[in-house]
Amino acid sequence: MIPLDAPGVTVRPVDRLDGDEGFAEVFLEDVFVPERDILGAVHQGWSVAMATTSSERGLSLRSPGRFIATAERLIALWRQRADLRDARLRDLVVRAHIDAEAYRLHTFQTVASLEAGEPIGPESSINKLFWSEMDVRTHETALSLLGPLAELDHGAPDAVDGGAWLRGYEFALAGPIYAGTNEIQRSIVAQHVLGLPRDRG
Ligand SMILES: Cc1cc2nc3c(=O)[nH]c(=O)nc-3n(C[C@H](O)[C@H](O)[C@H](O)COP(=O)(O)OP(=O)(O)OC[C@H]3O[C@@H](n4cnc5c(N)ncnc54)[C@H](O)[C@@H]3O)c2cc1C
Repeated sequence: MIPLDAPGVTVRPVDRLDGDEGFAEVFLEDVFVPERDILGAVHQGWSVAMATTSSERGLSLRSPGRFIATAERLIALWRQRADLRDARLRDLVVRAHIDAEAYRLHTFQTVASLEAGEPIGPESSINKLFWSEMDVRTHETALSLLGPLAELDHGAPDAVDGGAWLRGYEFALAGPIYAGTNEIQRSIVAQHVLGLPRDRG
């Protein structure tokens, strides 16, 4: 672990198309790490990095409250705007609720197994696939409920929920990319959870 203002650390912000901050390139050049700040053993940083990615994908990145809150907002939107004859949309709203609840219970299960001393392991990739795809699906359902209103500009004064569904959808689209792309997670599940052979293609 190193402070970002340590000698040898260079942080270069990366501009985003939407003007928001959030990305940087971080360069380390002969940065000194005092012994008390070493995680694990010297030259074993890769194992520590891999353990942090499992923890990120399996537990710490996306709290269940985030998806429960989105599902509740979706149910409220459905109550306001639904065409009650549209059984397909109703089923998608129900699915969003069930998925968010399942994710919450699964998170409790992960915490219980960590408390019992079990590692998170490659199964965390299944978790990452689940929440990232759930998030996109839930926002797509909201946009379907909104219909043409969903197209309103973020900043439009009459945007529904202040344009939050469209902004949320745009951010949800990044979910299958960050924390390791979903294509890579599927390969991890195939090889390390299911024991399938590596793809030679
Ligand atoms: C919103 C957001 C936040 C982020 N936050 C962070 C952060 O906090 N910290 C951080 O370190 N990084 C962060 N990232 C970076 C992110 O982890 C990478 O963008 C991601 O891992 C993909 O790497 P890449 O962009 O180099 O794509 P590439 O590796 O170049 O992949 C490009 C495409 O090719 C596919 N691909 C590549 N290799 C294979 C393969 N072997 N098999 C099948 N398909 C393959 C990928 O799935 C992807 O679709 C963030 C990215 C986003 C969008």
